[in-house]
Amino acid sequence: MRHDMKVWQQVFQELIQEVKPWHTWTLKLDESLIPNTLQPGWTQYQQWVFARFQCSWCSRSWASAQVQVLFHMHWSKRESKGRVKMRIFAQRCQKCANPPFEIPEFTEENISRILNNLVFRILKKCYKEGFKSMKEIRTVKDNYIEGPHDINNCEACLQGFCAQSGLGLTTQPPVSLTLPVISLPTTVRTPIQKPSPTKSSTTAGVGEISLKLHLIFLYTLVFLVACFIMHANVSRIVIHCIKK
Ligand SMILES: [Zn+2]
Ligand SMILES: [Zn+2]
Repeated sequence: MRHDMKVWQQVFQELIQEVKPWHTWTLKLDESLIPNTLQPGWTQYQQWVFARFQCSWCSRSWASAQVQVLFHMHWSKRESKGRVKMRIFAQRCQKCANPPFEIPEFTEENISRILNNLVFRILKKCYKEGFKSMKEIRTVKDNYIEGPHDINNCEACLQGFCAQSGLGLTTQPPVSLTLPVISLPTTVRTPIQKPSPTKSSTTAGVGEISLKLHLIFLYTLVFLVACFIMHANVSRIVIHCIKK
């Protein structure tokens, strides 16, 4: 795993340097990371990805498309320093009795995809830069996956953090729907304040009081626009006359 981590760090540095060449970012493994439990100022990013496992007891290998990779990110503007903590949830062998949890192996292609998604998320959450149409890149499945997700041997499921454990034994809700979904930055402005299309400014879905206020505002606006047009016409006529 330590060797594996080098690849993660290297790829992460390449990607983050591309977009933020002057900033220092670090990526570290943290086995104690818990989903939805964040230190102040940190943000979370969860991905469910494809990876392969191998049992260290019987050497059996299997693949899963529901491997949870959890990231907590923090950006300090003052220090120009960013930190990412990562946790990869383990799974254990179905065939052995009491086998250890195994950390999965990822292809470099998938590491790069996962980290690409992470860097996009950092841009969005930490720098407030982002693209509305940003879609998560999916990891590549290089193997047929037999059967359903094995909730009894998935570390995330057993701890109540797996998206697939909705029917599991856990009392916790089946993983936050609040965080991982790509949340568009709130650019949904209230559709007023544009002076030109006076009639089209809608006021749907606002409270009654603000509706009244909007109407008053609208009337004033119409009046002002009318005054302006009249004034413009008058001055045009005057200029026309003078020119004559
Ligand atoms: Zn085994
Ligand atoms: Zn699970």
